[in-house]
Amino acid sequence: MSDVVDATHHVPIDCPVCELMMRDARDVAQFYASGCCIDCWIGFLEPLRLRIGDTTYLPNSAEVQAYREKIRIHNLEKEQC
Ligand SMILES: [Zn+2]
Repeated sequence: MSDVVDATHHVPIDCPVCELMMRDARDVAQFYASGCCIDCWIGFLEPLRLRIGDTTYLPNSAEVQAYREKIRIHNLEKEQC
C-alpha cells in the first residue's frame, strides 16, 4: 500500500485504508501519524503491528481487503439494529 505512506502532504477526503470519509480533526491527526483514520488505526493497523512485532509494518492489499470486508459487514449489522 504505497499510496498510504506517500500521501503525507495532503489529507484525502476518504481514509485510504477503509475508504470511509474522514470525520473530524482526530481522524486527520491520525492520518498524519499513520496514514489512516482512527478506526483503522485502533481496529486494524495497531493490533496488526503488535501481532507482527513490527511498528512500521504496512498492510498488504489482502489484509486491507479483509479489513474493509469486516467493517462493511459490521456497518450493515449496525444499520439493521
Ligand atoms: Zn479508515
